[in-house]
Amino acid sequence: MQDRTVDRQTILRKANDDFRWEGVEVLPYKEDERALFSAVSKQVLFSGPDLDGELRYFEIAPGGFSSLERHEHVHAVLTLRGRGHCLVGRQIKRIEPYDLIVVPPLTWHQFRASFNEPLGFLCMVNAKRDRPQLPSQQQLDDLGSDPEIARFLLNQLSDS
Ligand code: MN
Repeated sequence: MQDRTVDRQTILRKANDDFRWEGVEVLPYKEDERALFSAVSKQVLFSGPDLDGELRYFEIAPGGFSSLERHEHVHAVLTLRGRGHCLVGRQIKRIEPYDLIVVPPLTWHQFRASFNEPLGFLCMVNAKRDRPQLPSQQQLDDLGSDPEIARFLLNQLSDS
């Protein structure tokens, strides 16, 4: 027996140039008014009542960064374009296309693009998730007591 519901669904959204997809809106990233972030856009690629997760594509403009935050839900990230650095916990890693990054529960994280190209990545999350926590000044000071994290937070890590 043929399932006819599929006939009413969009089963293919073609990729356009420059990491855009047919019928997918490019949203300014403003999930949380409290958060400090810069030059980030978001596209929700997969989301729906039959899914427990969502797949989003984020793009950070050159020199931009995502908000520094933590939450109970986890992220599974796959970079698709560009280079930069990520902070996960107290580790800073250089990232480039096709790297995989796991952000465990309640772990501080932030992504920063290099200065010469956008950093684009897929991010898989639970559909139902808790609201991000932002660091207090004391938590920021604690993170910044590590000299490498301090340079990361000031956008001073080298592109090379
Ligand atoms: Mn997050």
